[in-house]
Amino acid sequence: MHDVIIIGAGPAGLSAALWCDELGLDTLVVEQASEVGGQLLRVYNPVENYLGVRAATGRELRDLFAAQAEERDFDLWTEAEIESVDVRAKRVRLRSGEELQSIALVIATGVRRRRLGVEGEKEFEGRGVLESGRLERESVAGEDVLVVGGGDAAAENALLLAETCATVTLVHRGKTLGARAEFAERVRADHRITVFTEATLERIMGGERVESVEIRRAGALKPLRMAVRGVLVRVGVEPNTELFAGQLHTDERGYVVVTGEQETSAEMVFAVGDVSNPLAPTVSGAAGAGATAAKVIASRLKASRK
Ligand SMILES: Cc1cc2nc3c(=O)[nH]c(=O)nc-3n(C[C@H](O)[C@H](O)[C@H](O)COP(=O)(O)OP(=O)(O)OC[C@H]3O[C@@H](n4cnc5c(N)ncnc54)[C@H](O)[C@@H]3O)c2cc1C
Repeated sequence: MHDVIIIGAGPAGLSAALWCDELGLDTLVVEQASEVGGQLLRVYNPVENYLGVRAATGRELRDLFAAQAEERDFDLWTEAEIESVDVRAKRVRLRSGEELQSIALVIATGVRRRRLGVEGEKEFEGRGVLESGRLERESVAGEDVLVVGGGDAAAENALLLAETCATVTLVHRGKTLGARAEFAERVRADHRITVFTEATLERIMGGERVESVEIRRAGALKPLRMAVRGVLVRVGVEPNTELFAGQLHTDERGYVVVTGEQETSAEMVFAVGDVSNPLAPTVSGAAGAGATAAKVIASRLKASRK
């Protein structure tokens, strides 16, 4: 029996663990990935908005977090696959068969990139379906590529890819780009970028790697087939809450609803970081929420043990 089980070792989970350790709680962190850090592992741009630190990449910031975590006494299990969670009982069952039990549970599972779910998207991952415009633009230099999405991430990636690619087609289902004005204006001004609004990507096709796509434009009877060598999808994120489905109060998009103390609709079950923060997902917010949950848990346990 642990005092606290924390699910997820991104910034929120690590901050909660650090604070739980600081406050003398017996803490176990369960992380599905092979290393800690969550989304920071995929942040290739500098992170200069976390107080007190300037990091050249997310990984650099993650390395600082990981080093600090290693100095602490809490247990951390990586590559731990959770089969099920009984939220009210605070019982976590792993695929390996182990069953873990705690007095308090902290959900710090963050968010993942939303997929379109179209044909070819998974099949051509790493073979033309790109993970990052910044990292992979050289691999598609001189080629025609497609970016899907209309927000900041899509616009930023279209601009990055336009620096090396022959052409970039930006496909967005809305009527206008939702990206911030600075990005949207630069996209419109870039002669290598063509924007298709009210359009959706329907299919990605190819052999060894991506060769073409089918796009459906509003009002068109037939999909338009385009030859491209790269496809990058940036259509937002979704919370990792499947394990808790039906057990906790969530909003219409699946984000866990919490109180000011980070507590969910189940007593002594807390949610911290992006998984419960659709409006302002940041490293600072995640770290702060982790600290809040830990302090609340510690004071409740202290009161109950008096
Ligand atoms: C490209 C990009 C740039 C960004 N730039 C900035 C920036 O400049 N400044 C800033 O403040 N923020 C930035 N962010 C956002 C920031 O990375 C997030 O707000 C932060 O990582 C959220 O931390 P988190 O711990 O809540 O979630 P995450 O980082 O998503 O971590 C969640 C962790 O939970 C694990 N997990 C999920 N499901 C399970 C499960 N079932 N079992 C076990 N473990 C599980 C995941 O593997 C992951 O390790 C950026 C994000 C991206 C993608």
